[in-house]
Parts: sequence; structure tokens; C-alpha cells
Amino acid sequence: MKNFAYVKARSIEEAARELGSPGARLHAGGTDLLGCIHDEVIGVDKVVSISGLTALRGISPGPGGGLRIGSLTTISEVAANPTVGRDYAVLAQAARDVASPQLRNQGTIGGNICQRPRCWYFRGDFHCAKKGGELCYAMDGENQYHAIFGGGPSFYVHPSDTAVALAALQAQLVIQGPGGSRTVKMGDFFIEPIQDLTKENVLAPNEIVTEIQLPPAGSGLRTSYRKIRARQAWDFAMTSVALALQTEGGRIARASVFLGGVGPFPWRAAAAEKLLAGKTLDAALAAAAGKAATEGASPLRENAYKVDMVRGAVEESLLAFV
Ligand SMILES: Cc1cc2nc3c(=O)[nH]c(=O)nc-3n(C[C@H](O)[C@H](O)[C@H](O)COP(=O)(O)OP(=O)(O)OC[C@H]3O[C@@H](n4cnc5c(N)ncnc54)[C@H](O)[C@@H]3O)c2cc1C
Repeated sequence: MKNFAYVKARSIEEAARELGSPGARLHAGGTDLLGCIHDEVIGVDKVVSISGLTALRGISPGPGGGLRIGSLTTISEVAANPTVGRDYAVLAQAARDVASPQLRNQGTIGGNICQRPRCWYFRGDFHCAKKGGELCYAMDGENQYHAIFGGGPSFYVHPSDTAVALAALQAQLVIQGPGGSRTVKMGDFFIEPIQDLTKENVLAPNEIVTEIQLPPAGSGLRTSYRKIRARQAWDFAMTSVALALQTEGGRIARASVFLGGVGPFPWRAAAAEKLLAGKTLDAALAAAAGKAATEGASPLRENAYKVDMVRGAVEESLLAFV
């Protein structure tokens, strides 16, 4: 492994400053970063660790009755937090579904949403389009786990479970850089491969996600997370569904339906959301919404099964609320 400098930042400002030099990489829990460095998926000259910044850790009440989650809060802490479990069940379930207990104890929620894609060409010894090459090898290669939505010029899928839940909850991220902080909605955080293949989100190299803000969970909010993976031990989602239904008097006032494992970022099933809004949920509506969630899917040679998986997973998730 290539030698690199190591800085343990004593403040967010120091971390942002250190991250300004070329080849600097931010380290939180390190469960993804160190693998990427070891496997030479990314280059590195300096690792800047924010792991000692305790101010970035913990879950507390947010403005107007919402919740703040510090970006260094571990995934285990998110999964076990009673308020998250009671008011934001979709996030608690997504956190429980991440990886293994050891990885949940070490990995942070900030690192979970910023982790790099798991595409085997990107992670492997291939000079693929995402690493500056000319081809996305998934287009004609082994593409059973790749994108059915939003693919091209690269077909990687976003790997995070918690990001899908946070998108459904319409969370916001507080981001700090050398010039101060800004707030970005989850829906605006990720970028399309066509915008910039070298990164997955709007972060500049010297910007740090410091906090996640959840809006107040009003009464009538019903949420769930369902993850389908190839095996029941730790594994990434082949497909996942995060639902957040705002109900009023037995009717769905507003639906938020996001899919994981099928696109380059948490994929909004807008047609399903539109269909559900204003209606009373029953089996026929759940089936129709499942079908609507597949609208716009464009499978590759080996992943058409994901279209059926999305349809079934959305339908099943909705049926649990009937
Ligand atoms: C075997 C295995 C199985 C896994 N299975 C799953 C799974 O099923 N579901 C799932 O969701 N994940 C899974 N993961 C991913 C794992 O959850 C992530 O590695 C972990 O959440 C990353 O958190 P971290 O704190 O260790 O991040 P790090 O490894 O420290 O960082 C990850 C990336 O995010 C950046 N980063 C970290 N924190 C911030 C921040 N605050 N602001 C800006 N950038 C930041 C880093 O620079 C780096 O690029 C798996 C990982 C492994 C190794």
C-alpha cells in the first residue's frame, strides 16, 4: 500500500483546511475508506481523520420538533436510538440492515451515505469509465447487480441503506467547508453519473457532512424499510424500498417512495408517489403502485429480474399498511 500522511483533526475547521490539499481523503470510521485505499480504488496522499471530533457525534432534538443526527454517530447508535425507532422506523430498520454488527459499530452514518459504489469493475482491477477509462464494463459484462434506473454512462448502484431511508424522510444535510456551512436536501445531495463520473455527490473535496436533520415526524406518518439481498448474512441491497406515508383520516395525504440498489442514488419512484397521493390504501392500489414504481426502468442483459423485484417489494411494503 502506498505511504500517506495522517492528520487527526482537532476541529472541523482544521479538517476542512487539511482536506484542501491535493490527494487528501476524509476518514470517519474508515470501514469503506481503508478498503478503497488498500485496493487502490482511489489515490491518496493524506488521510484526514475526523474520528476524534466528538461534537459530531450523537442524536438530539432538532429545530421545530425534528431530530439532529451528528454525522459521526455510528450506525449501531442510530439503529438503537429509541426516538429514531419510534418516530422514524424506516431509518431504524435501514440502519439495522446495514452490513454486520462490527461494521455498524465502527461505521458512521455520514460515512454510510458518502461511501463509494460497490461495482465490481470500479472496485476491481479495471480502468473503467468511473476511474477515468473509456468504458463502463457493466454495460456488456457481468451486470446482474447494476442499475436499472438512471444508468449511463456508468451503471453503478448507490450502496447505502440509510441514504434511501433519509431520502424518503426528506432529510437535510449540514455541510461545512472552509468558507462556512450550507444545508442541502437529500434530494439534491447526489449527482447523476452524466454530471460527473468521478464522484457521487455535491461535496467538494474539502467539505464535510457534519449533521443530518430530520423534519418533525407528525402524527399519521407511517414508514417502513424493506431490503432484498442475495443472502440473509451481511450484504448490499439488490433492491430496497423506503416508504414514508403521511396519512390523514385513513387516506394517504402524501407518499414518499424511494428505491435502493437499482440506481446511482436513492431512486425516487415518482409515478408511484403520484398514484398513492390522496387515496385510501387497499390491495389494488398497492399492486398498481408497485407497477408504477417500475416506470422508466431500463434493465441491462442480466438484471431484468430487478424490475419484478421492485414491483413486488413496493407492493408488499404497502400491503403491510393495509
Ligand atoms: C463487508 C461490508 C459490507 C457492507 N454492507 C453494507 C450494507 O449492507 N449496507 C450499507 O449501507 N453499507 C454497507 N457497507 C458499507 C459500510 O456501511 C460503510 O463502509 C460505512 O457505513 C462507512 O462509514 P465509515 O464511517 O466507516 O466511513 P469511512 O470509511 O470513513 O468513509 C467512507 C467514505 O465517505 C467519506 N466520508 C465519511 N464521512 C464523511 C463526512 N462526514 N463528510 C463527508 N465525507 C465523508 C470518506 O471520505 C469516504 O470516501 C458494507 C461495508 C463492508 C466492508
